[in-house]
Amino acid sequence: MTAFDTIVMIDWSGGNDTGPTPKKDAIWAGISREGISQTPVYLRNRIVAESWIAELIEAELAAGRRTMIGFDFSFGYPLGFAEALTGDSNPFAVWDWFAARIKDTPTANNRFDLAGELNLGLGEGKGPFWFNGLVNRDIPGLARNKSGYVNPFADHRRSETLAKGAFTCWQMGGTGAVGSQSFMGLPVLSRLRHRFAGQVSVWPFEPLERKVAFVEVFPSLTVDKAPEGLIKDQWQVQEMSRQIAGLTPQELADVLTLEVPEARQEGWIFGLGHEARLKEVPPLRNDCFALPPGVHWTPVDEALGLLRERLSPVTPVETVPLADGLGRIVATDIKALRANPPLPNTAVDGYGFAGGRDAGPHQLPLTEGRAAAGDAPGHVSEGQAMRVLTGAALPSGVDTVILQEDVRKDGDTIRFTGPIKQGANTRKAGEDVVRGDTILEAGRRVTAADLAILAATGQAALPVCQRLRVGVLSTGDEIVQPGESASEGQIFDANRPMLLGLIAQFGHLPVDLGHVGDDRAALRARLDGAVGKIDAVLTSGGASAGDEDHVSALLNETGALSLWRIAVKPGRPLALGMWHGAPVFGLPGNPVAAMVCTLIFARPALALMAGHAWSTPQGFDVPAAFEKRKKPGRREYLRARIRDGRAEVFPSEGSGRISSLSWAEGLVELPDEGIEVKAGDPVRFIPYGSFGI
Ligand code: AMP
Ligand code: MG
Repeated sequence: MTAFDTIVMIDWSGGNDTGPTPKKDAIWAGISREGISQTPVYLRNRIVAESWIAELIEAELAAGRRTMIGFDFSFGYPLGFAEALTGDSNPFAVWDWFAARIKDTPTANNRFDLAGELNLGLGEGKGPFWFNGLVNRDIPGLARNKSGYVNPFADHRRSETLAKGAFTCWQMGGTGAVGSQSFMGLPVLSRLRHRFAGQVSVWPFEPLERKVAFVEVFPSLTVDKAPEGLIKDQWQVQEMSRQIAGLTPQELADVLTLEVPEARQEGWIFGLGHEARLKEVPPLRNDCFALPPGVHWTPVDEALGLLRERLSPVTPVETVPLADGLGRIVATDIKALRANPPLPNTAVDGYGFAGGRDAGPHQLPLTEGRAAAGDAPGHVSEGQAMRVLTGAALPSGVDTVILQEDVRKDGDTIRFTGPIKQGANTRKAGEDVVRGDTILEAGRRVTAADLAILAATGQAALPVCQRLRVGVLSTGDEIVQPGESASEGQIFDANRPMLLGLIAQFGHLPVDLGHVGDDRAALRARLDGAVGKIDAVLTSGGASAGDEDHVSALLNETGALSLWRIAVKPGRPLALGMWHGAPVFGLPGNPVAAMVCTLIFARPALALMAGHAWSTPQGFDVPAAFEKRKKPGRREYLRARIRDGRAEVFPSEGSGRISSLSWAEGLVELPDEGIEVKAGDPVRFIPYGSFGI
């Protein structure tokens, strides 16, 4: 029973609340649920974190999912400490001991005082704990540094001696120190363990028989430093949960198997001795394209459903200036830093005053000065008016503006005829966006319009997913490159420029992997050379099951091929496989089929890998300008365009007609079922624009 559906990794913090905006040194939770990485969660303090974890456990239990939760602090202390402290060698006695004594609020806690008391009780005030992090206050029994330090216990737990870079549980402060985290974390674990009694097992103190497992982790063991612009803790918890989620149940069982007697009291660091295996967990599983057995023709929607379910984002997050954000995929929800409009203002040039006026003539004396856009708001007294210009913040005392065209100005007085409603011609603060509103959701591709609202609400930089690197490779002995001389029987490589162009239009980074002939060794060498430089590959040609179909044969050799026989026309089997963790989409060689398969299958799949929300291209029902009878069984895509409000299709359906692709301005999608289309019948037209091209 070692398989887990949900892996949550938590980077704890021993310090105080660091505020509402995601920061380092706060608490971060990385989640992989059913193999799919979720956006890490920022938890600003331990009180927030404890209730978040409790709610998560409740939700996972309710959904029937087994959940592993990792915490990055020591679950136990070196041998002898538990007994000396509590009279009981059981590590849970230490958890409960701390739970009874630690006092914690978002702004203050008693961890250093408690460490001092412990030292006075256990080690004549000279140890085992050291480091007082309070600048202004000395603490009896807790030295600021290690001078005079005497430790009545071992300096390290057994696991700490094996973990490169691990700090000891005795050090209460300083960068990377973990002692405080245990003080402030064990009470939380103690409470959660009692609250979910019978449902939580703690490794390695208990066999992991229950629905929820707590394990001790040390993310730096297997996760390297965060990419530029990303918070280290956020990155590490996300990566670590992905690594663990990527282990097979057997591999996970191996990592959890432990024959170290001390670990029963001291605890143990998950993954020690298995670092290499965890580090090489690919972003996606090798079997991620496996089809359920017995399936012959997979309907298009089912194929799309499988891609959606099996693929997950693979690109790290980076921060870019707003000006470079166009077309990028935002990595987290973006909230307004400022309201729009920030202050109530006038929508027109005119005169501002307080309150509406009934029908009939009115006159108001003018206050001196005027309010123009950019001016700090002034003041207008009751019964007076002020000249205001479009965009100006309303002076205090003003809530209504009359258009200058509707006013007669007479020296220091304005005259006009009512009625005018209170609030007329003004904009309220925040009537568009309130500060803190979500303006873009994670997974959205930034448009030019988005840049406007981002700028207006105070964003100068954006967290975005790094661009997905997509390799494009043509195969086939008959293919020559444009510019080369083509002998009879040879054809020019039409797919590669087309596919590289589509990738660029999708917003990814195209990586040209060139062309190889029908030669398995050359193909292998080319793909090997691309490892580390690409996140996914599109190949064209050689993807069926024939003698010269080397793409499928090569992927088959590595054991990671799935030939998807999708019920779609045009399209041959789509060869899906993995090459060192990167998905390979083996497209048909035929340019028409290659383009249609790219638009229908590769586009949403790559988008998902790039961090985009799953998306279905928007189609429109338009009257057909053609007639066609179609048999049931396969969905069909016809090259089409709109003329005079009707969808016309390319006169020949031949899949060798490369010219039809540029003749067309979109695709008509005919359903899986059999139908007879008559002129004027509605058909689904998906413009190229809906595919982002
Ligand atoms: P295949 O999928 O390798 O059986 O190829 C199917 C058809 O597509 C054959 O007629 C190939 O010559 C053609 N083809 C393959 N690759 C390309 C390419 N890069 N450009 C144009 N046609 C191609
Ligand atoms: Mg071929």
